[in-house]
Amino acid sequence: MQIRVDQIKEGGLFLSFEEQVADFPALSVVDGDEVVFLAPLQISLRAIHVHGLVQIEGRAETEVRLVCGRCLKEFETPLVIPFSLTFSRDLPEAAADSEEEEGIEISAEEMGLIPFQGEAIDLREALQDQLVMGLPIRPLCQETCPGLCPQCGADLTLGDCGCERPTTVNRFDVLKNFKVDKE
Ligand SMILES: [Zn+2]
Ligand SMILES: [Zn+2]
Repeated sequence: MQIRVDQIKEGGLFLSFEEQVADFPALSVVDGDEVVFLAPLQISLRAIHVHGLVQIEGRAETEVRLVCGRCLKEFETPLVIPFSLTFSRDLPEAAADSEEEEGIEISAEEMGLIPFQGEAIDLREALQDQLVMGLPIRPLCQETCPGLCPQCGADLTLGDCGCERPTTVNRFDVLKNFKVDKE
């Protein structure tokens, strides 16, 4: 997952390649637990030079099996994770020469710049971070999934279980009568 900086010409460098989930240790950790990867990652990206920095934008696509956060049923879905990374060439000698400019270095990091050295950028670690952040936190099998009945635990996607549930109006009544002790 190395990108040679001298191969990034004007107009950018377009790459698409396949990576195994096992090549990303942080993904392997969650694989089989909260998410099951059903396919390798198809990664496509564009690398361009921007004001002396190298910007890499792209997306990773795969198929996953997730557990719905409401009805707890497993479902399979395509997963697309967009990413955007900006790399900045690290100049250790220049930095050592001008310790007073330390503040500038810190702000570079604060701006989300990822340092690299030499003629190649190793994408693996930075890309892994983006992939982990891009995993769905509370996936739903469908936006309108009604979930489980809080009383009997029945799967409401299969129909109403007949339990009485407090209506929205009742819930507001509860809030209305709830007094906060403000000392
Ligand atoms: Zn669901
Ligand atoms: Zn019920």
